[in-house]
Amino acid sequence: MAIQISDKIITQAIKQAETSYPHECCGFIIGTASTDQSGELQAIGSYYLPCLNEKSENRERRFLIDPLAYQDAEDKADSEGLSIISIVHSHPDHPDIPSEFDRVHAWPGLSYIIISVCSGAASGYRSWRLTDDREHFDQEQVRIDKGV
Ligand SMILES: [Zn+2]
Repeated sequence: MAIQISDKIITQAIKQAETSYPHECCGFIIGTASTDQSGELQAIGSYYLPCLNEKSENRERRFLIDPLAYQDAEDKADSEGLSIISIVHSHPDHPDIPSEFDRVHAWPGLSYIIISVCSGAASGYRSWRLTDDREHFDQEQVRIDKGV
């Protein structure tokens, strides 16, 4: 399992995470997901689509994507022959590891990139994928394409 994204996508997501501090931010990576000959899932990001954190309380620890915003993002991706491949969110003053809340609210088949922001500066990020039985997340490799 791996997700390939451009330098530009991760830079935009990190900037949004830092600007939103101390609140969590969220957004989508739109792109294509396919399986290669060895059966390995390969997701390739085309662009980043930031969205608003709709959570009215406890935005330091929680994020909520408006179902309509999700639908809009999906429709936009659809019309371009693409799909939502990853949901990005930040963890202010918290490691880039999924919380129990994240596990309960995640869907299998999508990648979840978590950006850790400490005192307003991003300190790292990792990508995760929920197992099909929804029991836990597996970390997945992030490949950064510097050329795009
Ligand atoms: Zn989280």
